[in-house]
Amino acid sequence: MARLAGERHSPPVQPSHPIALGGFILTRIWTVAPGLCALLFVAIPGAVRSEPASPPGAAHVTAQRLLNAASEPSQWMTYGGNYEEQRYSRLTRIDRDNVKQLGLAWFADYDTNLTQTGTPLYIDGVIYVSTAWSKVYAFDAHNGKQLWQYNPKTPGEWIRNVCCGIVNRGIAAWNGKIYVGTLDGRLVAIDARTGKEAWSTLTVDPSKHYSITSAPRVAKGKVLIGESGGEYGVRGYISAYDAETGKLDWRFFTVPGNPKDGFENEAMKKAAATWGGEWWKLGGGGTVWDAIVYDPVTDLVYFGTGNGTPWNDQYRDPTNGDNLYLASVVAVKVDTGEYVWHYQSTPADTWDYDAVSPMTIVNLTVDGKQRRVILQPCKNGFFYMLDAPTGKLLRAVPFTEVNWADGVDMKTGRPRVKPEARFPVGRPFNLAPGVQGGHGWQANAFSPETGLLYIATQHAYFPMIADKSFTPNPVGYNLGLDFAAPFTYYRDHPDVPNKFVGYLQAWDPVKGKQVWKGEENQGPPGGALATASGLVFQGGGSSQEVRAYDARSGEKLWSQKTQTGVVAAPITYELDGQQYMAVSVGGTTLGGYYAPNYSRLLVFALNGKVQLPPEKEFTPLPLDPPPATAAADVVDAGSQQYTKNCAACHGDRGQTRGANFPDLTRTPLLHTQEGFDQVVLKGVLSERGMASFAAVLKPEESQAIRAFIIARANDLKKQPQTPWPPGSPPPTQPHTEH
Ligand code: CA
Repeated sequence: MARLAGERHSPPVQPSHPIALGGFILTRIWTVAPGLCALLFVAIPGAVRSEPASPPGAAHVTAQRLLNAASEPSQWMTYGGNYEEQRYSRLTRIDRDNVKQLGLAWFADYDTNLTQTGTPLYIDGVIYVSTAWSKVYAFDAHNGKQLWQYNPKTPGEWIRNVCCGIVNRGIAAWNGKIYVGTLDGRLVAIDARTGKEAWSTLTVDPSKHYSITSAPRVAKGKVLIGESGGEYGVRGYISAYDAETGKLDWRFFTVPGNPKDGFENEAMKKAAATWGGEWWKLGGGGTVWDAIVYDPVTDLVYFGTGNGTPWNDQYRDPTNGDNLYLASVVAVKVDTGEYVWHYQSTPADTWDYDAVSPMTIVNLTVDGKQRRVILQPCKNGFFYMLDAPTGKLLRAVPFTEVNWADGVDMKTGRPRVKPEARFPVGRPFNLAPGVQGGHGWQANAFSPETGLLYIATQHAYFPMIADKSFTPNPVGYNLGLDFAAPFTYYRDHPDVPNKFVGYLQAWDPVKGKQVWKGEENQGPPGGALATASGLVFQGGGSSQEVRAYDARSGEKLWSQKTQTGVVAAPITYELDGQQYMAVSVGGTTLGGYYAPNYSRLLVFALNGKVQLPPEKEFTPLPLDPPPATAAADVVDAGSQQYTKNCAACHGDRGQTRGANFPDLTRTPLLHTQEGFDQVVLKGVLSERGMASFAAVLKPEESQAIRAFIIARANDLKKQPQTPWPPGSPPPTQPHTEH
């Protein structure tokens, strides 16, 4: 007999009926006990499919173990800790009283200084973790010894299709295999014992700008995976593959294709009625690039969908249609991929308000009724609570500054959009949340003890400045925005608000209110982990530390410096009677791309005494551009080309993205056109991800881009406050999402 979701808040009493899960027929029974309600599963062995036979020690994850995750808190077997993705551990050895004794037990170096976003898994003595370039490591959790590393060998030049960093957020484990999605769109099953590829399947059309950075999830023997690419122009979908064979089981597209080709299903036909123009030419967008949650109680898969292509809906759909199912949470049946319901948080999205942020399923008493609900703090700044079986909107409350809408009409579920926020051509709008989002991909945690959701929150502005005209770009971003203009906008409007900070906040999901707020850091925050001992662990982003807060009061109880940024989420597990906390660190380091490598897996335990090696001597590249001599019209032409072809990776100022991409205002390549062209047109750095742009840039356009960067670097040099160095915060990232 297995217990699931043993939360204080009671689920509704429902009739029991059998559902098949992995090797068991499970009979679902709601029971109501005083003060504690539990959902019980009665397992009838031997039905449907035989239990996977891998011995322990090799990712022996089964449906039964995942359903029982709450009663096996020593493990961290799935991306969000359990099916509901609550990122809550019932381990209590590390508590509020002794957390100050937490120290490093061991660490393991990664082979790159790129940003690390992966949530590790811990299964039966082994830690598995994905890192930059979609690589996967296995470590012996007893001592940190590397057991294997899997490298999918993604071609370097593929990152021209990758909007937001050479990152990987996580992996799935099932029946002796580890699953990872690769930057170039493959889904790979790795033998957990050997690190060798068991099977690999291409999930995307390689002629399009697809990529994968998100974690696969496994439900009922299927691997669920989405993709990124909505900034460039692709058609979004979610796929389910057979976990044993890699065979495609089902696929649900999130936006309709060309109506002339017919529709895959009724949902696509309905969606097409909400589109105008010829959206299919750029794919439409709506990528499923982060949240995918399987709910064993409703037997539904919930996933979030991204922005449309281009972002700017003046250029995407002249009829200003809602454009289903962009910026929506969609529920489908896990067995078939059949549409069940959707909720579109941002109709006619024009702000990159992807609805893909992490979702958490909990049982709560809402307005006197016991419900199973989905919690999602969305990029658009509203916290949403949806009824899990039906998608009914129960709450929509801002959890960070929102200036594009006055609120959400609870009858229609639609935001009350301010007309000026749609930034018609020539009328910029300083948007909050900016395109960074009020919340990105960073993990939230929910504690059934406190009833609070711990939200990795962002407070960010971004000036939305429409392109004067829009023509599709076959290589770079397709946004319909002047993505290089924010720099000059803020330079010319020094009094408007301009910030991008991250912090953890404790949020009461029923009252729709903040309970406490943690420390701010520049740029995105790190993800969260809650424990039954009243702690919340969180990476401090660019503050370069990992912390523990008191879950009820928000008091900071512990922190440790990490030498580099921490945006990935911590996990906790137990081994040989000792509780550990593990987190991947890396990114947002002073000096960015050129800085020394401090990317690692850090593993903490009570009385851990291990010290990190001292930081290496490092002098960041100086801001030393050649004089700006180009004519204004050349710089302007360079700015336009930069926006189309370079800003995706190198940011609006030529110096963003922390560790992932070089700061172009500081590159020595600015000093000669020949050296610049070697990289930009000849592709000499393609192995490192900088492919040749000769197919889309003429030599005079490369010259104009260099002139633009030189002008910008000189502009920066004149400013009293350079973003870094010295002594100032590390660079922020204007766009960290997909
Ligand atoms: Ca996006």
